[in-house]
Amino acid sequence: VISLSRTVVALDVGGTKLAAAVIGDDGTMLSRRQVPTPAREAAQVLADAVVRVVTDAIEDAGGPPDAVGIGSAGPIDPAAGTVSPINIPAWRGFPLVEVLERALPGRPVRLAGDGHCMALGEYWRGHSASRALLGMVVSTGVGGGIVLDGQVQAGPTGNAGHIGHMVIDPRGPDCPCGGRGCVEMYASGPSLLRWAHAAGWCGTGQAADTRALAECARAGDPIARDAFTRAADAIALAVLCASALADLDDVVIGGGVATGAHDLLFARIREQVQRLAGPAFIRRVRIDRSALGGDAGLFGAAALALRSVGDACVPSR
Ligand SMILES: [Zn+2]
Repeated sequence: VISLSRTVVALDVGGTKLAAAVIGDDGTMLSRRQVPTPAREAAQVLADAVVRVVTDAIEDAGGPPDAVGIGSAGPIDPAAGTVSPINIPAWRGFPLVEVLERALPGRPVRLAGDGHCMALGEYWRGHSASRALLGMVVSTGVGGGIVLDGQVQAGPTGNAGHIGHMVIDPRGPDCPCGGRGCVEMYASGPSLLRWAHAAGWCGTGQAADTRALAECARAGDPIARDAFTRAADAIALAVLCASALADLDDVVIGGGVATGAHDLLFARIREQVQRLAGPAFIRRVRIDRSALGGDAGLFGAAALALRSVGDACVPSR
């Protein structure tokens, strides 16, 4: 049997950074490039920056890829190949797939939401024995994706897995999504800070970001501690509901806030799930930190691309 190894280029489009990597079907990252997203620029300037970061990554790796995978902040329309990221105002229904098809002719280009890519990346590179995995990204927003039997569940509109907008308190704060009491209103970085400031936390000197808030919590500041406890409790409720619904084996939580404050969040999340879960099948869920950090989305986008060229290295059942 002759086995031909394949390489693909993965692109991760976010409101603050654009990352591209060439990844082999054995999971090796051959090159990686990252630039700040020129999020306030015109659509074409953004498109040029995307093409440049992708072609630079390909040049670093020293060979053309077999396919292209894109994970993008949403909303996206996978069928139309367009993206409309909330934090990139110039892109509304922007044909990102077409831009990459033109830049890299003859190669299949696949697009999925960033939460879906994160979940697929975690499945491929760390949890391929999991039959039911929820990936959660807790950072500026709260996103996610579900991988069941090796398949990302996109849903009819491509938006399945939006765990950040599950309502956990109908009397909770209004969410920009139009809902109320969403997980994101408790657990995202801006929500943590908003609540802490309203409760009287005034930051430490210049820095009043989530890192400073976490340091205050570690030093015993009661408001800062409460902010993280609220976030952990919100995440725990979402995990409980998702677990009851999907019989989850694993929940993998990444994103800047979850990673930077893992010591303040994970023990409480696990404790709450154990305390509130009834049936044993809900209590058995494993809750882990992302082992891939900020690269989970790139690995997931690579997995999408590999599957598009029929590569079976990404297990699916
Ligand atoms: Zn919401």
